[in-house]
Amino acid sequence: MDCKEFQNELPELVLNPGTLPSTAAVAHMKVCPPCMEEYVSFQETFRALDAWEAPEPTRYFDQKLAVRLREEQAAPRMGWLERLTTSLQLNTGRNFRPMIAGALALALVVGGGSVVGANSFQSAQVPQASATLEDLQILDRNDQALQQLDRLQQADDDGGAPTPSDASPVDGPTS
Ligand SMILES: [Zn+2]
Repeated sequence: MDCKEFQNELPELVLNPGTLPSTAAVAHMKVCPPCMEEYVSFQETFRALDAWEAPEPTRYFDQKLAVRLREEQAAPRMGWLERLTTSLQLNTGRNFRPMIAGALALALVVGGGSVVGANSFQSAQVPQASATLEDLQILDRNDQALQQLDRLQQADDDGGAPTPSDASPVDGPTS
């Protein structure tokens, strides 16, 4: 077996756990340190991947992601250069000339050194935090309050009297 034949067998070996190298492959690895090294490093990589567990997402991950997606879809946040490029790439011709005229006019404004024009143009692009996102932040605070209540409950179960400072959920649901 030469290196090329070994390389052909390698995917089979590392992708199917429990597959043992053929005697020819073992013989080749004994005389070819680079191939041996590659086989061992693949084995270690796949062992590490087997041991790895994906972390659990937080409780509100799905809602937060949905909100972010909606915001990104709704936000008119592309810069003029980006819009110009996108239009040029996607344009079928109908809006081409008005768009170029607008871009040229804008270039005149910016190039003419109009500081006020440039500033107002930039501030128009600042995204605003949505009410939905604030709701989610309130939900997060409520979650913390609930956890505090849980701890108080446990303290009660243990027979210990909670101190007054523990008993006041500052970030309560009513805030
Ligand atoms: Zn080799």
